[in-house]
Amino acid sequence: MQTSPAAVSPSSRPTREPDLRAPLIQVTNLQKTYKTPRGTLNLFTGLDLQVQRGEMVAIVGQSGAGKSTLLHILGALDAPSAGTVYCASTNVANLSPREAAAFRNREIGYVWQFHYLLPEFTALENVAMPLLARGATKREALALAANWLKEVGLDDRGSHRPGELSGGEQQRVALARALVNNPRLLLADEPTGDLDQTTAGRVFDLIESLHASHGLTSILVTHNLDLASRCTRALKLESGRLVPFAAASHSGPHPGTM
Ligand code: ADP
Repeated sequence: MQTSPAAVSPSSRPTREPDLRAPLIQVTNLQKTYKTPRGTLNLFTGLDLQVQRGEMVAIVGQSGAGKSTLLHILGALDAPSAGTVYCASTNVANLSPREAAAFRNREIGYVWQFHYLLPEFTALENVAMPLLARGATKREALALAANWLKEVGLDDRGSHRPGELSGGEQQRVALARALVNNPRLLLADEPTGDLDQTTAGRVFDLIESLHASHGLTSILVTHNLDLASRCTRALKLESGRLVPFAAASHSGPHPGTM
């Protein structure tokens, strides 16, 4: 496991570690309601989810089913309308904006379909950002970021700006940035959705390997059933709930209409 710099590690996690056998994620009776011009949209209808530590869970489902919203709620980027959401021993529904930001920085690595790297900074500086946000010195942050670039196979690309990297390389840098603070939970929203099939497979290989080597718990939203079939288990979000999904390996076109 990567060691955090001394400046940012003490008291960065609750000192009383919870029962390690307890699920890392426990969602009960989750509801999310949006008021829209056409009326109330009830996105989740009492959704329940338990994820054990070390699991790699795929979430599939039609576009608009609420997959991104669910990840946002788990990652304290959005609030539930009702229900309880325990994530990494924290009741994420009860966090103030400041606490939510600290929780995200400490516990969550987030990867999106698009890398959202800052174009004016180098790959190395992009990876160092979350460490700086957490109080590491520039020297410590750059040293750890360099280790992470090496870990994602890009130690020779540190001085490149995102625009000088391929799509797969950009996503590798985004993964390094997501994990540089040593979070427990990786949330990935279509992490390979913008990549060709071969590159998508390689990026997924990397996610799998980082998941195992860093003891992560990972939740991946994907339309790619081949990749979903490689996860510990797959769930389908339909009619506001999660149901078990048999993601047998599929070949052929990307099932983008799911
Ligand atoms: P998915 O990731 O499965 O494609 P999303 O979670 O992005 O689905 O969105 C689920 C539904 O919630 C969509 O119909 C979307 O339009 C709606 N939605 C998302 N955010 C809002 C919002 N802030 N206000 C109203 N409706 C929203």
